Amino acid sequence: MTAQILDGKSLAASIRSELRLEIKAGLGEGKAQPGLATILVGVDPASHIYVRNKRRACEEIGVKNFHLELAEDIGQAGLLDQIEEYNQNPEVHGILVQLPLPKGYDYDENRVLETISASKDADGFHPLNQGALMQGRPAPQPCTPKAVMALLQLAGMGDLSGKKAVVVGRSNIVGKPVALMLLQRHATVTICHSRTPDLAREVGEADVVVAAVGVPELVQGHWIKPGAVVIDVGINRNEEGKLVGDVEYSSAIERAGAITPVPGGVGPMTIAMLLANTVEAAWGA
Ligand code: NDP
Repeated sequence: MTAQILDGKSLAASIRSELRLEIKAGLGEGKAQPGLATILVGVDPASHIYVRNKRRACEEIGVKNFHLELAEDIGQAGLLDQIEEYNQNPEVHGILVQLPLPKGYDYDENRVLETISASKDADGFHPLNQGALMQGRPAPQPCTPKAVMALLQLAGMGDLSGKKAVVVGRSNIVGKPVALMLLQRHATVTICHSRTPDLAREVGEADVVVAAVGVPELVQGHWIKPGAVVIDVGINRNEEGKLVGDVEYSSAIERAGAITPVPGGVGPMTIAMLLANTVEAAWGA
């Protein structure tokens, strides 16, 4: 069996073009232009690339981008002041602080995320919004988990009743929220992490595997249950410097029913979901 490739790049392009049309139509009706503020602290090259891609996507679809690049020593108080300014700015509907914040300073990431107004929380990381997700209530949801669910939908896995899903990774930004979303779609969910004794066995029982670990090709192809849908969130460089996911793609593709590539799977969809969250924050769902 060779898996269906879940092409996140082209799905993201079609979501962006739908959003572009929606924004054009909304502006024609006199609605306010959706605005996203991006805040980048420090000089981390990967963060600069991620934010650049997000800003380009805003420009492409007609979201107004407010952008701040702050020195790594701006400090907690200085950063919170800037967030407050965007909270008060009626032209800004979504606010994103690119993580991680620079190491070696007094940044408290939780406090930073709590300071973003919950209604402008484009990334869906505010504890109020994470609590709403746990209770199944409407609120901004985190972009990467939303991207995972959209890719499952593309694989024909909208309703997961009777399916077993295994999430590898338990971070607050990917693993845990993905698990909650899978539960909402009626999957029976197992969350694995670094203390899970037999990861191969857990993965081998799954109809849906979501890998969000950050270890190159940790999930081996021969672990995958034949026909399973595999969503690979990981973005890693392997020893040869090649971009790879958390799943051993070359062998998993022979067993899975459907699989996301890296790059070109979850990554572009995450940005599409950020744009969707911004438009929703501006104009409602
Ligand atoms: P974190 O480092 O916050 O979490 C990683 C998780 O993986 C932890 O729960 C950890 O377990 C678990 N883990 C680590 N090693 C193992 C192991 N050997 N076996 C089983 N579980 C293990 O990462 P993130 O959730 O932030 O990101 C995960 C990956 O997804 C990264 O590669 C990141 O770059 C990528 N990513 C991609 C995005 C995209 O847009 N495509 C967006 C966000 C992230 P424990 O809790 O026990 O330590």
